[in-house]
Amino acid sequence: MDIALVGIGKIAVDQHVPAINASPDWTLAATVSRQGSVDGVDSYTDFAQMLAERPEIRVVSLCLPPVPRFGYAAAALAAGRHVMLEKPPGASLSECHRLIELARAQGVTLYATWHSREAAMVAPAKAWLTDKTMTRMTVTWKEDVRRWHPGQDWIWEPGGLGVFDPGINALSIVTEILPDPIHLTAATLEVPENKQGPIAASLRFAHPKGADVSAVFDWRQDGDQTWTIEVETDAGTLALHDGGARMVINGQEHRAEGPTLEGEYPRLYANMAGLVATGDSDVDLAPMRHVADAFLLGRRETVAPFHD
Ligand code: NAP
Repeated sequence: MDIALVGIGKIAVDQHVPAINASPDWTLAATVSRQGSVDGVDSYTDFAQMLAERPEIRVVSLCLPPVPRFGYAAAALAAGRHVMLEKPPGASLSECHRLIELARAQGVTLYATWHSREAAMVAPAKAWLTDKTMTRMTVTWKEDVRRWHPGQDWIWEPGGLGVFDPGINALSIVTEILPDPIHLTAATLEVPENKQGPIAASLRFAHPKGADVSAVFDWRQDGDQTWTIEVETDAGTLALHDGGARMVINGQEHRAEGPTLEGEYPRLYANMAGLVATGDSDVDLAPMRHVADAFLLGRRETVAPFHD
């Protein structure tokens, strides 16, 4: 199937283009970006023009930041295209619900991707936890914003999510592997005095069976980067490390058979091919709901200004 890629920036170049090029399902037929392009691929700067001139491209993958993405997604769905969304699926929950309604009305596929759910050890972790009784879950997502988001002003603006941009990846794994639903009860958001978005956050959740569930996200991490989820259960401890690439159960490492993090985007594109083939949609808003709740319930603390 032909596919158009919109928003040729960091993640499009790093992950989407290689995943599409390596896929047996997809041909990159066009790009839409104000400045970016991909060698050898027809490029447009105007999205409406691409939609009008290329009716044979039935699928559009949107790699823009969350705030400008809704208009593109709505236009693509209105034009009868199947749509794949980078995470987070929108800048607000209402936007996401509107897209779900539009896709349903048009009879097309809408896929809200959560790339971290496709990390190699997430499915094995979910399977192991299914019949265990969890007593504690601790999420630690600490990285250096200067290293991973250099010069990305949008990420600090309203709708950019601040530290929840990576933190929502952790929440996408948590909501995938936990057998029981959780809901946020309290949060603290540390916001630099010159920014709109938080640079750090700590969250607490209620668990229906009383497990102690908490998360810490921090963008001020020098040196080693930490993307870890530790779960204590009646059968011992499971730890997911490196964003779901590695799993350790009771001190013993369990290795993936296939690619670890490199497999995330190829799996997303394989999922999209499957959804389009069956005419289904997949839009799970659970990670986004927890982030929205943190912004609703979170206590704000103003911290030192941040400069790139
Ligand atoms: P980015 O490089 O800053 O932006 C992607 C592209 O979107 C830009 O190159 C720009 O292309 C276009 N764009 C930006 N602002 C726009 C606007 N106001 N209107 C229209 N187009 C605009 O961002 P990114 O890091 O690729 O992230 C994009 C999305 O992917 C985010 O939702 C992010 O959470 C997600 N993601 C990122 C990473 C990562 O490691 N960076 C990993 C996983 C997921 P033009 O200027 O050429 O139009």
